[in-house]
Amino acid sequence: MAELFYDDDADLSIIQGRKVAVLGYGSQGHAHALSLRDSGVDVRVGLHEGSKSKAKAEEQGLRVVTPAEAAAEADVIMILVPDPIQAQVYEESVKDNLKDGDALFFGHGLNIRFGFIKPPANVDVCMVAPKGPGHLVRRQYEEGRGVPCIVAVEQDASGKGLELALSYAKGIGGTRAGVIKTTFTEETETDLFGEQAVLCGGTAALVKAGFETLTEAGYQPEIAYFECLHELKLIVDLMYEGGLEKMRWSISETAEWGDYVTGPRIITDATKAEMKKVLTEIQDGTFANAWMAEYHNGLPKYNEYKKADSDHLLETTGRELRKLMSWVNDEEA
Ligand code: NDP
Ligand code: MG
Ligand code: MG
Repeated sequence: MAELFYDDDADLSIIQGRKVAVLGYGSQGHAHALSLRDSGVDVRVGLHEGSKSKAKAEEQGLRVVTPAEAAAEADVIMILVPDPIQAQVYEESVKDNLKDGDALFFGHGLNIRFGFIKPPANVDVCMVAPKGPGHLVRRQYEEGRGVPCIVAVEQDASGKGLELALSYAKGIGGTRAGVIKTTFTEETETDLFGEQAVLCGGTAALVKAGFETLTEAGYQPEIAYFECLHELKLIVDLMYEGGLEKMRWSISETAEWGDYVTGPRIITDATKAEMKKVLTEIQDGTFANAWMAEYHNGLPKYNEYKKADSDHLLETTGRELRKLMSWVNDEEA
């Protein structure tokens, strides 16, 4: 059984005794900076020249300085800028401002796992990764709850890295919900695999293929949209609450029988073999290197894929249908 930590296992005074820099003020950055501040922690936000989020951070009462100034002032530096530019921010603003006993924190392990960032031996290297989007992390904190987090210590120069990471996790509400200990390697590889094979890539491809099968057979796109995309939420909510069992308890016996006999015809041994290949390419760095190359090449393929899906009948149909569904919120958080 995984090691779990709750409020009583974490000492908030550790992080309250440190100076924290949060670099970036996006989805995760704003949640960490505001909640740490509200937990009585000394926080400054590090943002680049011309940052779009600078005004918002200042409006919300935070002190904003450059990433280099933030790193120099602080002894705990949390890097929450987009993954593909973390190495550059580290080289330009963090590296030369690291002192003995500082701690370098991450919300995701990619740059450490694949060696894009190589910290010196005299600092702690820790991860506190909430298992939910930043806006939910902040909302839950404000409501007295929390989003579960995972923590990891890659390098324990102080010998107290775990206590520090747990204290940080408490400061953003994570230990209210439960914190699981992992490693940078496990977090990075499972996170990439989950989002590619199941959560985002696998699900999007499944929905699209189902929708196309119905519309190509002459069924109305609006009906296909409801069957293959809209209802997915109701099914996933049931799985979230009680696993496959609760989902199957709620659906009709006909649906349940179809589930057993058809599911394995859709996700076949060939699909699983491909999943294993995907996992290998994650583990050996093929995926991370290709993604960094695409990013630094100006995202040509990324933009092509994005445009093609945006113009897909599934999306044009959904955009119109959701206008008629007042209860579906299509605005960004
Ligand atoms: P976002 O894209 O939401 O935010 C990035 C922030 O970094 C923005 O405020 C951006 O400024 C700022 N930024 C960009 N360039 C620089 C720079 N050179 N110097 C300083 N700040 C800069 O990122 P996320 O919050 O999504 O991701 C941050 C980290 O958290 C990643 O490691 C990610 O993997 C991890 N994570 C994210 C989750 C999520 O919910 N999104 C979930 C769990 C982990 P501007 O406002 O100007 O664009
Ligand atoms: Mg991820
Ligand atoms: Mg049905």
